[in-house]
Amino acid sequence: VMASMAHLQEEKLRLQEELLGLQEKLTAQENNELSRSLQLQSQVETLKAKLLEQAQEISRLRSELGGADVEKDLLATENERLRQEMKAYEGELQELRQQQQLPCQECTHFQENTELQEQLSQLQQEAEETRAKLAELDLEVQQKTNRLAEVELRLKDSLAERAEEEERLSRRLRDSQETIASLKSQPQQIKYIIKTVEVESAKAKQALCESQSRNQYLQEQVGMQRQVLKEMEQQLQSSQKTVAQLRAQIMMYEAELERAHGQMLEEMQAMEEEKNRAIEEAFSRAQVEMKAVHENLAGVRTNLLTLQPALRTLTHDYNSLKCQVRNFPLLLQETLQSARAEISQAIEEVNTTNRELLRKYRRELQLRKKCHNELVRLKGNIRVFGRVRPITKEDGEGPEAANAVTFDDDDDAVLHLLHKGKQVSFELDKVFPPKASQEEVFQEVQALVTSCIDGYNVCIFAYGQTGAGKTYTMEGTAANPGINQRALQLLFSEVRGKAADWDYAISVSAAEIYNEALRDLLGKEPQEKLEIKLCPDGSGQLYVPGLTELRVQSVEDINKIFEFGHVNRATECTNLNEHSSRSHALLIVTVRGLDRSTGLRTTGKLNLVDLAGSERVGRSGAEGSRLREAQHINKSLSALGDVIYALRSRQGHVPFRNSKLTYLLQDSLSGDSKTLMMVQVSPAEKNTSETLCSLKFAERVRSVELGPVSRKAELASWPSHEQLEVTGGSLGDSPGTAAPPGRGHVSPVPGQLSSRVASIRRKLQASG
Ligand code: ADP
Ligand code: MG
Repeated sequence: VMASMAHLQEEKLRLQEELLGLQEKLTAQENNELSRSLQLQSQVETLKAKLLEQAQEISRLRSELGGADVEKDLLATENERLRQEMKAYEGELQELRQQQQLPCQECTHFQENTELQEQLSQLQQEAEETRAKLAELDLEVQQKTNRLAEVELRLKDSLAERAEEEERLSRRLRDSQETIASLKSQPQQIKYIIKTVEVESAKAKQALCESQSRNQYLQEQVGMQRQVLKEMEQQLQSSQKTVAQLRAQIMMYEAELERAHGQMLEEMQAMEEEKNRAIEEAFSRAQVEMKAVHENLAGVRTNLLTLQPALRTLTHDYNSLKCQVRNFPLLLQETLQSARAEISQAIEEVNTTNRELLRKYRRELQLRKKCHNELVRLKGNIRVFGRVRPITKEDGEGPEAANAVTFDDDDDAVLHLLHKGKQVSFELDKVFPPKASQEEVFQEVQALVTSCIDGYNVCIFAYGQTGAGKTYTMEGTAANPGINQRALQLLFSEVRGKAADWDYAISVSAAEIYNEALRDLLGKEPQEKLEIKLCPDGSGQLYVPGLTELRVQSVEDINKIFEFGHVNRATECTNLNEHSSRSHALLIVTVRGLDRSTGLRTTGKLNLVDLAGSERVGRSGAEGSRLREAQHINKSLSALGDVIYALRSRQGHVPFRNSKLTYLLQDSLSGDSKTLMMVQVSPAEKNTSETLCSLKFAERVRSVELGPVSRKAELASWPSHEQLEVTGGSLGDSPGTAAPPGRGHVSPVPGQLSSRVASIRRKLQASG
């Protein structure tokens, strides 16, 4: 037993040593396990970190991919902006072209063009920049693709590493499992030993228990480690899955990136092309426009060149004008002063000239009057005109109404009358043929009328048989007025013309002499017989008390007066025509003037007389009032003839008082008065004997010569119409009176005349 005890002791010691070794081994194992688990943990840690890193890398890659998207967006917006800019430029170009079509007014095209060019260059620069950016982006994409490849490589490496690691780990795990299994198998032996030892020793049993619990603990530890390993395996699997997913995503992103890149490139290409085209177009357009603008500019430049001298002269003119304007008030004042002085001098001069002129005028007036008087003296102040009326309906038809009067084409003072188959010629101062108008007649009378204004007395008589045109010549018709109205009109206009220096008053009286009775045609009582009286002032002037004198100022006034006169005359008789042919109608116009500058007063009288018909009343058969009328007319016409004859032959005694007519007109027939006898004749064959008488009367009045004859003829009396008719026939045959006339017309020899007159007297006395 002792030996066995010793042996057992030894055995126990060995076992104890063995246990100790085992324990040491276990602790070493444990330590190893711990370190291995630590290592594994650190490996898991590093793997986790790597995973994190990869996740970060992925997110970074994702963000980078997103960045690429943003860049793409940016590029797209840039592209859009460029496109809009292009549009804007196109619009500008369009505008420019439209402006080009307008005429270049202010040459802004040049500036615009330069601006455009600048913009173009800017655009080009921008395009260049964009191109550079594109290249950069390309480079970046390249870099990113490279990095991606790298990352992939790295991923692959890390995967391979991980696989290796896994393998290594699983190998180790297997080793450790084997070890654990061997260790497990060892405790079996130990259990057996321990059991045997327990039997031998409680202590050994206790130690065994302890080692068993320790073993339990170790086993638990190994289970835990196994679980951790499992978890780690799961984690590894999930990370492997994630990696696969990531790889697929990366592939997808790569494809997308590739596509985006391709699209981007394409778009960029298209954009580039579009841009280039637009730029080229714009450039070419701009060039064309530029050319046009240049041409315009050249035109404007030449214009400017031509305008420059004009501008220079204009500026010069303007400056000189400015200077003149500045000096104008001064100059004006000076000029005004000098003008004032000149004007006052001129006024002075004009005044003196005026005075001189006035003096001369007065002298001239005197001279004119003198000359006029002289002229009248030389020419004779008695003029005789003849007027032949046209053949009218009243003359009837047939041989009785044939024309018996002819004229001389070369001499307007000569008239030929065919009487009883013989042509008798007469020469008067003027002969008016039937076609002569009222105007023409008045033109010849005009001078006589105006001399009234100068203060002369004028008498115009219309002489002739009834129906020869006396009233037509003196009064005329309403449409074609005669001498009366025209004379007054002329007086009005003349007076108006002299109104500056003269004050004139024109008044009118109208009277009638019938059967040697004078009646006022404008009075309230036309029947009243008026008397002609000598002025009581002893001037020898005659006047008619009660004769109405009306002031006239216009043609209307005259017309009213004429009308009134006619009415008065008409109420007096049953047959106006007959009555008027049996009476003398007088229109007496008085023109009174006052020369304001000299105070000179003038009075002129214009007597317009429509004489009674000069025809002879049938030598037999006329009785009573008709005979009386005829005797009165005959007497007054003879008296008129006598007076005119006496005046023209300058006799000392003029028998004015032999008739009312001559007595009334005494003032207007004597002195430097002027007389016109208008002898009216009818051209009709049936009136030739009366025409002959009238023309003979006219010629006698006219042919009275001045000089010694007048004295001799003093006693001679004017033949009456009856006498003219009586002598007419015999005289017609004698060469003395009825010889063809001419300017050198031979007047009756004084002796002959007086003897003829004496014979007429004798005849008259014989006939009672
Ligand atoms: P008197 O007054 O001599 O008797 P009138 O003057 O009454 O004559 O004229 C007689 C007619 O002849 C009138 O009808 C008148 O119109 C006409 N008569 C007279 N003279 C002319 C003339 N020169 N032109 C046209 N008609 C005239
Ligand atoms: Mg008449």
